[in-house]
Amino acid sequence: MTQPPQDPDHSRANTSAGRPPANRPSAATVVVQAGRPPRRPDGPVNPDITLSSTFHAGGEIGYARNSNPTWEALEGAVGTLEGGAALAFASGMAAVNAVLELVPVGGIVVAPTHAYNGTQARLSELARAGRLTVRNVAVSDAAEIAAACPGADLVWLESPTNPTMAVCDLAAAATAAHAAGALVVCDSTFATPLVQRPLEHGCDIVVHSVTKALSGHSDILLGIVVTDDDALLARLARIRKLTGGIAGPVEAWLALRGLRTLALRMERAQSNAGELARRLQAHPAVAVVRYPGLPDDPGHEVAARQMSGFGALLSFETVGLAADAQVVCESAELWLHATSLGGVESSLERRRRWADESCDVPETLIRLSVGIEDVEDLWDDLSAALLTAFPAGG
Ligand SMILES: *Cc1c(COP(=O)(O)O)cnc(C)c1O
Repeated sequence: MTQPPQDPDHSRANTSAGRPPANRPSAATVVVQAGRPPRRPDGPVNPDITLSSTFHAGGEIGYARNSNPTWEALEGAVGTLEGGAALAFASGMAAVNAVLELVPVGGIVVAPTHAYNGTQARLSELARAGRLTVRNVAVSDAAEIAAACPGADLVWLESPTNPTMAVCDLAAAATAAHAAGALVVCDSTFATPLVQRPLEHGCDIVVHSVTKALSGHSDILLGIVVTDDDALLARLARIRKLTGGIAGPVEAWLALRGLRTLALRMERAQSNAGELARRLQAHPAVAVVRYPGLPDDPGHEVAARQMSGFGALLSFETVGLAADAQVVCESAELWLHATSLGGVESSLERRRRWADESCDVPETLIRLSVGIEDVEDLWDDLSAALLTAFPAGG
């Protein structure tokens, strides 16, 4: 259903050092080249947007809830980047729910105390309905994860986490989960496959909200699941077919179009994020900055080991109260005051403005999704917004 995985040399995604072995294109090349139609005279260089609910009998697709050539192009590209085979879904949450469907009725799921609030809300609702049991753990605490694994069916990881930027030691968690016979999933949305490849660290499944950096332009919702296990892929494909959370072909095409520039976008956005993190750390109105790229960040050591960059997301807590942090968000003029993340444009929000956000997330925590604008313009606007909220400087 998807193109066979290749093996891009991911570690060089953000550097120009060295040439890859001839048969191992770098991730920066894969994002540009993968998922294109076969080369033939007058053939198009991009996949078509296939708008058809049914297909002539005798082939493998048959009906458009099973597959679609435009999804397959996107799936081939993301699968290659992650080192597995991919299935596209209607949204990140459709992908999350397809994976949760793998848990047997009454099963046990180990999940982070802080993670994407949609995943957490869904797990709580499934637990309340008696569908499964959740054991919450600090995702940055490998010993706590290991202690929670015996008897578990699924270990849900997210790294770095949304919005607290906690980093999970994926290899340690996967080892503990597998010793207990559990499947391991990583929501790697904050990292993207250019920066982190969870399958290489032993995870069985990777989930992305393609809505975010993979598509990169804040114009679609889409999700994707990747695995290097054929049996799991077949189970997930069947879940997708029968639950029906399928991708729209236009969305899949736009996601692939956005993916073409992922390496360039990540390079700029990560460099902007690192610079802003350093400047925020020195700002008197800022109490805490959470960015794994900062050498004194609690997640730095593990992130430096398992990621080839530190991503374009960061969060910080202001001094003062929630209302002050809210003024920062509302005073920004260049930064969009909006939710979601991973677009070319920078955005910010106070996460606790959402009812579903965990009460453990500090009231003054502002999440920054750093885009590809000029970093001095971003800093000028952000520091002006901080000055509006804290005229005395904090
Ligand atoms: C946004 C997000 C999701 C959900 O994705 P949607 O495309 O909005 O359904 C899941 N996980 C993380 C980490 C996210 O940021």
